[in-house]
Amino acid sequence: MFDKILIANRGEIALRILRAAKELGIATVAVHSTADADAMHVRLADESVCIGPPAARDSYLNIPALIAACEITGADAIHPGYGFLSENARFAEVLEHHRIAFIGPKAEHIRIMGDKIEAKRTAKRLGIPCVPGSEGGITDDDEAKRVAKEIGYPVIIKAAAGGGGRGMKVARTEEDLVHALQTAKTEAKAAFGDDAVYIEKYLEKPRHIEIQVLGDGKGNAIHLGERDCSLQRRHQKVWEEGPSPALNLEMRERIGGVVAKAMQELQYAGAGTIEFLYEDGEFYFIEMNTRIQVEHPVTEMITGIDLVNEQIRVAAGHPLSVRQEDIKIEGHAIECRVNAEHPSTFRPSPGTISYFHPPGGLGVRVDSAAYQGYRIPPHYDSLVGKLIVHGRTRNECLMRLRRALDEFVVDGIDTTLPLFRTLVRNPEIQNGQYDIHWLENFLKTGGLGDE
Ligand code: ADP
Repeated sequence: MFDKILIANRGEIALRILRAAKELGIATVAVHSTADADAMHVRLADESVCIGPPAARDSYLNIPALIAACEITGADAIHPGYGFLSENARFAEVLEHHRIAFIGPKAEHIRIMGDKIEAKRTAKRLGIPCVPGSEGGITDDDEAKRVAKEIGYPVIIKAAAGGGGRGMKVARTEEDLVHALQTAKTEAKAAFGDDAVYIEKYLEKPRHIEIQVLGDGKGNAIHLGERDCSLQRRHQKVWEEGPSPALNLEMRERIGGVVAKAMQELQYAGAGTIEFLYEDGEFYFIEMNTRIQVEHPVTEMITGIDLVNEQIRVAAGHPLSVRQEDIKIEGHAIECRVNAEHPSTFRPSPGTISYFHPPGGLGVRVDSAAYQGYRIPPHYDSLVGKLIVHGRTRNECLMRLRRALDEFVVDGIDTTLPLFRTLVRNPEIQNGQYDIHWLENFLKTGGLGDE
């Protein structure tokens, strides 16, 4: 096992990794920018190293500074968390060169899945059902028109290097298409430095359902059921739950089986998520994330498996601690991403938290690096914390979430807590009747009032 892990991240995920490492008896090194000197992950780690100024490109994305920090502290592994360098294949390779273990999959798999065209091609080869669309990238208008006609309108143009919901354009007619292609390419170039785009069928009312996997890198891989992340704003997840209100045991086992088999064939190592759109009983692969995800606690709550612990074990060359037959989905879990944003305008609200009182009690988990007096820096994402609630049934989970949200106090900044208090009381949410457009429509029609 590793002696010392350096955590190349910040915020709640840095704490999450720190906790897993401590429970394995492994020493921890926190790194931080000058803006994060008082952060909770820095306070709780055994050692800490300042790696640069506030801008992420000079600190959390600064590969030479991270390697120097490993050398100074004698850390033998790096956990990248999510975001930042977590899906950077070159980073994984550079670490290998320096004999520092990367707690994540093989560089080759990060690279394949980071290019969405290549990812779809690989998924198809492995027998995973995909959204109908272009075989590869689309270069000219005529090709776009031909493919769109073949699969039928509406279509969506997506960036091969896409992420974070950016660079996607929907076209409903051939007239729309040429313009959408141009804007998608321009946006993709500006956001990712790569204008490669592809086309797929635009699904009108799908749910976003993703399967959590774990692999040992040697051909053993298992699935841990699904999370339903259909409640999104601007293609960003807001509320995640598992199991999905739309699936039954047979569907879960069918898609889970397909995915686990594909990961076995790939000899995938560590934690990963295969994302699907689900409509009318069919699954359509959209992408794979080769890292731990923000919403991983939903799966931990319904399976009892510590996913970060498994990531660390596998990276150290150990087998998975569980077999497929040990995975039992028990009860229901919901996660709310509480952001430092105005609950109806979503304007970011950095500042100092003057009072912080997280909820507690049976089945309630708060993953947060916030504390009273903490000043949220303006340089990074706006996540204040994640509230994850578990119940024996979905109904019990909803009632528990309602009371936990009512207990949660964050003063001094705006947060999205009022949005969740409204959502948990909404009859359609309570009935599990929502697709990926539900939240946007709800917000557009003034669902939240004038809070
Ligand atoms: P990103 O990597 O930018 O997050 P994804 O491919 O994961 O992009 O898609 C993000 C979200 O965009 C999905 O959860 C879904 O809401 C929407 N989306 C993507 N592809 C389609 C599609 N073919 N039809 C309808 N919606 C889509």
